[in-house]
Amino acid sequence: MNDSTSALLQDAAQRAIRYLQGLPARAVRPDPAAVAALSRLDLPLPQNGLPADQLLALLDEAVSPATMAMAGPRFFGFVIGGALPATMAANWLATAWDQNTALYPVTPGVSHLEQVALDWLRDLFALPAGTAGAFVTGATLANFTALAAARHAVLARTGWSVEADGLFGAPPIQVLIGEEAHPTLLKSLGLLGLGRTRLTRLPVDAQGCIRADALPPLRGPTILCLQAGNIHSGGSDPLRSLCNAAHQAGAWVHVDGAFGLWAAVSPRHAALVDGLPLADSWATDAHKWLNVPYDSGLAFVRDAHALAASMSISAEYLPRESDQRMPADYTPELSRRARGVEVWAALLSLGRSGLAELIERNCAQARRFADGLRAAGFEVLNEVVLNQVVVCFGNADTTLRAIASLQADGTCWCGSTVWRGRTAMRISVCNWSTTDEDVERSLAAMIRCARQAGA
Ligand SMILES: *Cc1c(COP(=O)(O)O)cnc(C)c1O
Repeated sequence: MNDSTSALLQDAAQRAIRYLQGLPARAVRPDPAAVAALSRLDLPLPQNGLPADQLLALLDEAVSPATMAMAGPRFFGFVIGGALPATMAANWLATAWDQNTALYPVTPGVSHLEQVALDWLRDLFALPAGTAGAFVTGATLANFTALAAARHAVLARTGWSVEADGLFGAPPIQVLIGEEAHPTLLKSLGLLGLGRTRLTRLPVDAQGCIRADALPPLRGPTILCLQAGNIHSGGSDPLRSLCNAAHQAGAWVHVDGAFGLWAAVSPRHAALVDGLPLADSWATDAHKWLNVPYDSGLAFVRDAHALAASMSISAEYLPRESDQRMPADYTPELSRRARGVEVWAALLSLGRSGLAELIERNCAQARRFADGLRAAGFEVLNEVVLNQVVVCFGNADTTLRAIASLQADGTCWCGSTVWRGRTAMRISVCNWSTTDEDVERSLAAMIRCARQAGA
């Protein structure tokens, strides 16, 4: 490597460090002037390339201030984690390795590391021995991957090979899903040819969770999709009773636990997902509550054979002599980055108790938001059982004005929603760096902005 490459990477590290150091103090929203100036990037592709140091300076000056401080401690929109320092450092090193993590014999280091991380995760979630895991881009693809295995298994039991023959003429599959399932689950089902709307929707309770008595009689190939962690309430479907009932009819049970699965690692919150290991497949995100950089999701399938049957490929030029786990046998992708490296780094840097403490701290911070907002006279719509809070500042207009004022204020950032017919603001606490002081500052800003909006 020549001196100018070394200087370039040092410069990039310095700029990244400066950005991170600025996160706690800067406004959370993008700087409006920087957003307005983004048009300076709209150049035709030049005939001759720009030196990389100039390009990096342009990137930092034009784009850094136009970012949302999602990685910082007071971003409470959607369900977004930050990146633990150990994960970012591991990510930088792994980017230098640039390993195409498809085949064990070619990339033994990162392939092995991913197996270690999967073992730790199976242990943390108490998943059955032999459960297969896969590193994918996020919970959307984790749902897709796990449901592809489900589709394989329920049709294989009727003697149908969906991989060979597709769904043309196949026995119909009954798919059941809660009224408040995440929209990406519907998308995954659509991608798999199971239909976004050709579904049996199951009624939910006031927390948006499927009612324990909601299951109709099940017959034939059946997939039941449950949820651990409703994006509004944080609540989970009654996993134990629904798994038991569905299994009596031979159904496959899948759990979308993009953030809610992590409740299992906290002794204080594990009861919320009681029965989790009874399911047949699980999807979760690492880029949300585990606080690794984007993008990173995880799929788990009890029947490893069903996952491999739906995902594996073979070709003469792909080496297979190894009896080691082949990463590409479990993912939709062949070529991909070594996204298990950051998962490994997050788990090892936190340890079992550090991870439980992160989950519990964020949940306590969510309860503090709810208590503070209620004390100020505002209506919290959900029972705060995890890290999500849904609050109304009055009627829809007042609530939307309060949210707009809060977003412009910049102390923190929260988004709007409509839940169970009410216009409301969502607060999601899942960043490792959020302090109790951040919560107090943000709470004060919420109350101030709501009052300004006439609440
Ligand atoms: C975030 C989320 C998803 C989608 O995850 P992506 O990582 O954005 O693909 C799916 N289900 C639930 C419950 C979620 O919270």
